[in-house]
Amino acid sequence: MAIQKIVSYGHPALRRPAQKVTEINDEILQIIQDLKDTLKHIGGLGLAAPQIGIEKQIFIADLSLMNDKKYIGNKITFINPEIIYSSKKTDTDTEGCLSLIDIRGHVCRPIKIKMKGLMPSGTMRTIETFGYYARVLQHEYDHLHGKLFIDYFSPEEYEKNKDQISKYLKENKKILPEILE
Ligand SMILES: [Zn+2]
Repeated sequence: MAIQKIVSYGHPALRRPAQKVTEINDEILQIIQDLKDTLKHIGGLGLAAPQIGIEKQIFIADLSLMNDKKYIGNKITFINPEIIYSSKKTDTDTEGCLSLIDIRGHVCRPIKIKMKGLMPSGTMRTIETFGYYARVLQHEYDHLHGKLFIDYFSPEEYEKNKDQISKYLKENKKILPEILE
C-alpha cells in the first residue's frame, strides 16, 4: 500500500503527453496499485498516472463514490486507452479534478463513447459507456494527453476561476524547477 502525492496544476507531468506502456511488468502493476490506494485515500472518481507524476498511459476510474445504484460496477483500470467512438450528441455537466482540487466548472463532452485499451492482465478490452461514467473516462483519458478540464471552460468560467488557477502556478513556481501552464 503506497499513497502517493497528487501533483497540482503547473506540474509538467500534467501537460506533457504520457508515454505508452510497452510491457505490463511489476513496475506497472505497482503504479496501478498506488493509483488505487491514492484514489481510495483521497476520495475521487478517477486518477491518471501523470497526476502522481508518472508520465505513462495508465488511469483508473471508480464511480462507487457517486453512491448511486446506476454506477455500481463502473470501475476500471485502463492502460494505453484509445477512444474509438464518440457520439455527436454532447452534454454539459460539472467536473472537478484532484490536481485542481478547489475548482469546479462546466465541461461539454460527448455523451457516449467507446474506449479500448489493455487491462492489467494484458487482455484488450473495449467498453461502451454513457453519461457520467463516459465523462469520467474522457476526463482521465485527457490527462494522458496533457489536457485538463479547465481547457474546456468558457471564457467567463475561466475568468471566474482565474485567481485560484494562478494560485496553483504561483505555489508550484516556488517548489518546482519547471512549471507548465
Ligand atoms: Zn483530473
